[in-house]
Amino acid sequence: MEINAHTKIVGLIGYPIGHTLSPVMHNTVFNKFKLNFVYLPFEVRPEELAGAIKGMRGLGIVGLNVTIPHKEEVKKYLDSLSGEAEMIGAVNCIYRTDGGLRGDNTDGRGFLRSLTERGIDLEGKCAFLIGAGGAGRACAFMLAANGIHRIILADKVTAKANALGEDLTAEFPLSSIRVISLDDNRIKDCIRGSDMVVNATPVGMRPDDGLVIDPDCLHNGMFVYDLIYNPIETPLLRAARERGAETLNGMEMLLYQGALSFELWTGKRAPIEIMWQVLEETLKG
Ligand code: NAP
Repeated sequence: MEINAHTKIVGLIGYPIGHTLSPVMHNTVFNKFKLNFVYLPFEVRPEELAGAIKGMRGLGIVGLNVTIPHKEEVKKYLDSLSGEAEMIGAVNCIYRTDGGLRGDNTDGRGFLRSLTERGIDLEGKCAFLIGAGGAGRACAFMLAANGIHRIILADKVTAKANALGEDLTAEFPLSSIRVISLDDNRIKDCIRGSDMVVNATPVGMRPDDGLVIDPDCLHNGMFVYDLIYNPIETPLLRAARERGAETLNGMEMLLYQGALSFELWTGKRAPIEIMWQVLEETLKG
């Protein structure tokens, strides 16, 4: 990779930045197609967020992905938001336009594309979604906007699930939105009766994590989606597979949200197969 006066900078801001696959996914493609771009991770403390966005403007940085904990806070430093970022209430991708810095949300579209590529039909179905943070919000809005009939929401902090439930109901008054507390004894029946279970919590990322829901609620005929991609198979996905459910981890969502960001920054079509190959080699290797 040759860095010169014309190299365009894109990257990721978050805190902590931890282990991220985005630099290897984007930089491999930039190199392979001789695009004069570089993708850099930037660890940005919450109190430095305003300065980081000012720096992005001043340094001419072309685009940024945004991760925990900045996805909601960053909105106020931008010049405009896409309709989806506005609706979801979170930004995970910033790019330059003639009107200044624009915030978008590619998590939601990435999640949706991972479902459509699998041929998952949402029409009239019921989804149980646990985790009402940035990713959970993106998934819930995409499900409601694309034919899901009923969404049941839960979060460790019920107030967060309630806030999401209210926002969803305001946007999709014809959908059936229900919030359930984790200690409500009807929760098992809610999960059992759902066509789809989505884990949008970080539970399952650490080796000593248990299951985020009771595995006895999982069964054949159900689709279980864990947004986590590392490990490739979380305890939830293993339990679901062992009970005959169809499963999906977060790799495809990561791929498609990254591909959409790539297209916003470079104006070129993302080479999906190559990006997928890099992710597979890195994660499975
Ligand atoms: P987040 O904003 O921190 O949201 C996670 C939510 O889950 C928080 O409200 C959290 O509550 C809640 N939670 C934590 N433990 C819980 C439990 N045991 N039961 C119920 N709720 C619980 O994080 P995020 O950005 O939405 O990300 C969530 C997950 O999605 C992460 O694993 C992330 O890696 C993954 N993700 C994947 C992709 C992809 O492309 N595949 C994209 C984005 C995110 P507290 O805040 O109180 O802990």
